[in-house]
Amino acid sequence: MKGTALTATQPIDKEAIRARYAEERDKRLRAEGNDQYLRLASSPLSHFVDDPYMPVVEREPLTDHVDVALVGGGFAGLITGARLKEAGVEKIRVIDKAGDFGGNWYWNRYPGAQCDTASFVYMPLLEETGHVPTEKYAHAPEILEHSQRIGRHFGLYENALFHTEVNDLEWDENRSVWIVRTNRGDEFTAQYVTLGTGPLHVPKLPGLKGIDEFSGHSFHTSRWDYDYTGGDPSGAIMSKLADKKVGIIGTGATSVQCIPHLAKACGELYVFQRTPSSVDVRGNGPTDMDWFEREVKEPGWQQKWLENFTANQTMGLRMPKEDLVQDGWTDLSRRIRGRIFSLPFYKMTPKNMMEAFEDLDHEKMNEIRSRVDTLVEDEETAQNLKAWYRQLCKRPCFHDEYLQAYNEPGATLVDTDGQGVEQVTSKGLVVGGKEYELDCIIYASGFEVGTDETSRNGFDVTGVNGLKLSEAWSEGMRSLHGIHVHGFPNLFILGGFQGAALLSNVPHNFTESGLTIAMMIRHAREKGFQEIAVTQRAEDDWLKLLGRGGGQRARMAKMLSRCTPGYYNNEGQEGGLLGQAMGYPRGAVAFFKYLNKWRNSGKFKGLEFR
Ligand code: NDP
Repeated sequence: MKGTALTATQPIDKEAIRARYAEERDKRLRAEGNDQYLRLASSPLSHFVDDPYMPVVEREPLTDHVDVALVGGGFAGLITGARLKEAGVEKIRVIDKAGDFGGNWYWNRYPGAQCDTASFVYMPLLEETGHVPTEKYAHAPEILEHSQRIGRHFGLYENALFHTEVNDLEWDENRSVWIVRTNRGDEFTAQYVTLGTGPLHVPKLPGLKGIDEFSGHSFHTSRWDYDYTGGDPSGAIMSKLADKKVGIIGTGATSVQCIPHLAKACGELYVFQRTPSSVDVRGNGPTDMDWFEREVKEPGWQQKWLENFTANQTMGLRMPKEDLVQDGWTDLSRRIRGRIFSLPFYKMTPKNMMEAFEDLDHEKMNEIRSRVDTLVEDEETAQNLKAWYRQLCKRPCFHDEYLQAYNEPGATLVDTDGQGVEQVTSKGLVVGGKEYELDCIIYASGFEVGTDETSRNGFDVTGVNGLKLSEAWSEGMRSLHGIHVHGFPNLFILGGFQGAALLSNVPHNFTESGLTIAMMIRHAREKGFQEIAVTQRAEDDWLKLLGRGGGQRARMAKMLSRCTPGYYNNEGQEGGLLGQAMGYPRGAVAFFKYLNKWRNSGKFKGLEFR
């Protein structure tokens, strides 16, 4: 099939496509799985993690007490901090390894970075702060600025500790407080702690032979070196690259966004590709402020949009009539559901539904592959940019300039036929025995996902009777609502796993859990309680309930096991992010409704207040 230019209207040969998908997958399977990667911080290139954006300022260690310590100053910490302030909790301390708020948006300042979920639902607390995103998919500087706006608006800068990493969290049973220790020598106490560290904050590198031998310049995309490249995060031309030969490793969501900028700026650009991304239409544009004022702005508009997005994404049979957000994600799920519902009622078996889903997927992927032919001038390059897997096997990408970047005179795609770069030398990179001499190597090799939470965070948590979180989770995550863990009172997890597990708009998970946490803490304070703890029984019952989604998860796991390797399927091995993301069996909308009722009842069933 290689070499054929498919058109969207061509009849689909399902067997041929399945065979091609399996062939491409098998090429990429590696026995080492996740071990093929190097953790940046412990690699010979550990200096790559240093903050290129803000200097680290010396300060005295702290030994005081706060009401709540929020670990992580990204959206999770910001939203929860905001809700706690609204609930009257004053002494809040956000701690982050970055130099400011923003989390991923602090670190990822590569040119072209922008959100992939529509900004009206992706950017939190818009109504509260009065900000209206300027584009349908806002660019990174605006998102970073919005994070800072939230910090200022809710007074979260006051006690914040930036450039600070928590390295120990220990429960003090006598005083009912957490002892928080950091890499800056702090040892302070907090009555409550939240963990909002996110799943994609530890940059990784390919474990390549000779990785420390390159004599040119190199950096990871999450620490973009504008001093070297010129330009800036708003997309100004990177003029210092005009006479440079630059190689970029990786073609995931990050590369798709920064390659158009590199292709315009570099004397020569070599893109080293192992697996192409699927790149569908983006359709970005400025916000029409008149339309916003006229059609959108009303009290509670953002909550309404959030709920509508989530319902369009996850509502199964009861899909809402209206799609307010109309972004790549709602389009994708409405199309899948539309196809499934077109089955006659008597044919709606899980098997037929999965088949209808697959048919639609083949059509969509053919359309995406045809788009490559339309936009890329060189035929061989076009063939190599086609993604041969189901759309949800890897993070779907959306972009209107990525594919055209390969038409730039200096841009070359080095396709490695699924094998990846072989080696780094003092002069450059080796693929298929050929050495490419380079001035600069940019690693767009992503972030750790399959590693366990405590090792990713760089610290374990010690709860009641010395129980470690790593021990409590030795056989997988255990929680009530994805928030509480038995044996760890006054500790709240901010993630989304074992709750709504809404991956297409992660901030919506935080919006709901942040509010829930604020209401629990307010309740404890009003009633004079010192501790909030989940019972063993409540945690067990919750896991049993989650287990009821087993059939659907098994179908998902089967689909993923046939996917090309990536972080969604743990590099083609057991487990992986989507398995871990086990959520409420009736879906995200039902979970948010349930949680709303649970917190508003004032009973907080399953918890002990003492
Ligand atoms: P990814 O993990 O998606 O991509 C890493 C890339 O490096 C892949 O293309 C991978 O190939 C490649 N690679 C790894 N090893 C080698 C090797 N030895 N030789 C050649 N290539 C290699 O990282 P990203 O930073 O692109 O994205 C990570 C996640 O961050 C996204 O999935 C998304 O969730 C999030 N993100 C979100 C954005 C947004 O919302 N706007 C923007 C950017 C990122 P292979 O595919 O074969 O493994």
